[in-house]
Amino acid sequence: MEYKNNIEFARELDNNDPLKEFRDQFYIPLKNDKPLIYFIGNSTGLQPKNVRSAVEQELKDWEVYGLDAHFEAKNPWYYYHHFLSESIGRITGAKPEETVVMNSLTTNLHLMMVSFYQPDGNRNKIMMEAHAFPSDIHAVTSQMILHGVDPKQALIELQPAEGEFINRNEDILQAIEKHGDELAMILIGGVNYYTGQVFDMKSITEAGHKVGAKVGFDLAHGIGNIPFQLHDWDVDWAAWCSYKYLNSGPGGAAGVFVHERHGQDKSLRRLSGWWGTEEETRFEMSPDFIPQSGAAGWQLSNAPVFPMAIQKASLEVFDNAGFDKLREKSKLLTGYLVYLLNEMGQSNDSFEIITPSNPEERGCQVSIFMKKAGKMVYDKLKEAGVKADWRHPDVIRIAPVPLYNSFEEVWEFASLFASYMETVADPSLT
Ligand SMILES: *Cc1c(COP(=O)(O)O)cnc(C)c1O
Repeated sequence: MEYKNNIEFARELDNNDPLKEFRDQFYIPLKNDKPLIYFIGNSTGLQPKNVRSAVEQELKDWEVYGLDAHFEAKNPWYYYHHFLSESIGRITGAKPEETVVMNSLTTNLHLMMVSFYQPDGNRNKIMMEAHAFPSDIHAVTSQMILHGVDPKQALIELQPAEGEFINRNEDILQAIEKHGDELAMILIGGVNYYTGQVFDMKSITEAGHKVGAKVGFDLAHGIGNIPFQLHDWDVDWAAWCSYKYLNSGPGGAAGVFVHERHGQDKSLRRLSGWWGTEEETRFEMSPDFIPQSGAAGWQLSNAPVFPMAIQKASLEVFDNAGFDKLREKSKLLTGYLVYLLNEMGQSNDSFEIITPSNPEERGCQVSIFMKKAGKMVYDKLKEAGVKADWRHPDVIRIAPVPLYNSFEEVWEFASLFASYMETVADPSLT
């Protein structure tokens, strides 16, 4: 695509966008009666308009049936997680039995590590990317402590090369080989929340398995953003939250992927609860825990129907759009943002894009490293109605979401950013 730096061109891209009507299926928050340029769907996705009636359906069934809604409701509550697994499977590349929607992300990280981090003598290390999300680090280090393993000795953080922001894949593969039989588990964010880097999950999984480590991915910033083939890549496990790109609301129900070869292993150590047992015999209330096969065998509790109803409605929007088309638009949309930033960057060295330039190595998010006056630029953007994200000490994260953001918004943002950067670059101004 030959991009152009003018608003007419941006509008033309919007006119030709096969997904343009999806924006109307979301509530866009306003500032001074004008829609915000909402580029923070990587943090809290917007509300799809079909969510309300989905929640009302469950409220109605609760009203009408009470307890019996577990079996009599339009979407019988007892089986609710099944209603999500086909859609989740489509966007994660998983078989329906390999995923389950449950709990919250950090809880699920712990549940997965109970099964997949089993330190044994020298093989007790966990490899993560540097700059991992704090909750993941807390979860990992507390699991180590639980096993009597010293995190200072056992946590390996992959640092980018000197002077670089992103991890080169060949360096990661080399580090995996180097740590070889000390490595119990690898846990990497499929998309790093800070840089927006997409990791090569297929080759990392292969390399991890080659040295005998388990490999898991945190897909919080990946799910609903980039495509996955978790089953085919042979990933051991993955976990994600749903309130970012999945637009499933604050504290929405999270999810996990457990590869079928582990899902069928009923002897695999796990923390268990009654919802992990077979549906047909669960109400016999047996004290013996016999897990059902698949990821559903990791469920603990009676499922939270209301957040799952929201997610079900939200996933319908993804299914209607089609994930391939979304990804195609996303590349074009984020590509346009990067093009516009590069255009102005040629005359302005006060910022640097730290997200990979290869579209295959990024999702929709672009992270801009501000060499000076970053917070001032961010505050001006905020004042002008751009909802972006400031990451201390000096990164502005921008995430144009293909479901509800437009090319015109990207252009508007870029022209605002350009005018602020001129101010910053001019030494006679403050
Ligand atoms: C958003 C995010 C979290 C948040 O965890 P919760 O348990 O949902 O609060 C954790 N890890 C990563 C990588 C995230 O991006």
